[in-house]
Amino acid sequence: MVSELILHIPEGINFDCTGCGNCCFMWPVPLTDDDVKRISSLPFADQKFEPVHILSTGVAGTAKEMSFSAALGKRKDGKCQYLSPDNQCEIHLQFGRQSKPSMCQLFPYTFTSTPAGVFVSASFASTGVLYNQGRPLAEQREHLQETYELFSRLFAELKPDWSNLQLVDGQPLSFEEYLALESEYLEALLSRASERTDKILVGLSKRTLGLIAHKRDFDRIPGVDLKPRIIDSLLIKSLMETYFPSDVYRESICDIDSASLARSFVMPPDKVHLEFASKQISFSQLTQYSLGALSDESESLLRRFAYLKIFSKLYVGAGFAGLSLLAGLNHLAAIIALVRIHLKLKNIDSMKNGREITFEETAESVRTLERRLTAANFSNPSKTILEVLLTAPERAERISSLAS
Ligand code: SF4
Repeated sequence: MVSELILHIPEGINFDCTGCGNCCFMWPVPLTDDDVKRISSLPFADQKFEPVHILSTGVAGTAKEMSFSAALGKRKDGKCQYLSPDNQCEIHLQFGRQSKPSMCQLFPYTFTSTPAGVFVSASFASTGVLYNQGRPLAEQREHLQETYELFSRLFAELKPDWSNLQLVDGQPLSFEEYLALESEYLEALLSRASERTDKILVGLSKRTLGLIAHKRDFDRIPGVDLKPRIIDSLLIKSLMETYFPSDVYRESICDIDSASLARSFVMPPDKVHLEFASKQISFSQLTQYSLGALSDESESLLRRFAYLKIFSKLYVGAGFAGLSLLAGLNHLAAIIALVRIHLKLKNIDSMKNGREITFEETAESVRTLERRLTAANFSNPSKTILEVLLTAPERAERISSLAS
């Protein structure tokens, strides 16, 4: 018997292609064998393309369960060969949407299967999603159902296991209990529009801490004799290098350098600096500089980002690095604070104290973060280090204050 698809679509998220060409630039587009056959035999009118590059290693950002062995060829300027000068896809124009590579048909959507149905999400690497432009997803059910069919064929082996969900490492959480908490989180994000998103998340994490059966001091790291603020700065440095590399396109697989982070707990450097545009910026500069409030539009983008990650469960358990709920919430609060820190570094670097951050700058920082999260492939030591360092709401709160 075929079970009926229960598709949950988020409210308040819009998308239609803006034709900016950004998604067809630099990013490696992986191809299945069927894509290679189909695209190689398309009878283009008067045009010659070198359509595919066969890869000897996996393509960044694709699930381990998949076996992509090729990627679309790029031109020297980094744009896809099939992108026309006016940012149109030649394959789509000449042969229709279904002739495009599967990943291009799928983008920017993704889907999370759970015991309560399938939850739709969309990538903030897309300009349409970043700017919330186009029709509401809630009005695109039929298209989303078709896209989900493609997704489930493409990722047939991807079966997230939600049976190991934990409130905190060692305290199991049933999926029903999780959903009850999740609806509180989503409600808080929707109803507290005037507050900073990272602060709302820290508040939710503190409330969740109240449900822990056996309280302990999560801010202390067993065997590490460092002040919490030093640990914070070492973690922030490592996360900034992971999620905001100087060349987001060159860095393929996204993972924390857990060995170097663990080493720095044993032999901490005299001073911890953050790198930005080849300059070193100290934590005291970061503390002295105040970013102030972002515009309503920028804050609303950060809130949408958090809302969609929580709705689609791409921040916790099988949805992200196997993190417990508390560590997942704190990681989400921390990465939103890191967007603000990234914007602060930009102002400190350009010595424009108090300069108002534009929406476009916030959007580009979120796009970079999303690209790295899409390419995330954390090793087991990285997952453990994130779980241990980010269980304490106090740490997320201190990171959030540094982002003020
Ligand atoms: S095939 Fe078309 S949609 Fe896909 S990256 Fe190239 S131009 Fe863009």
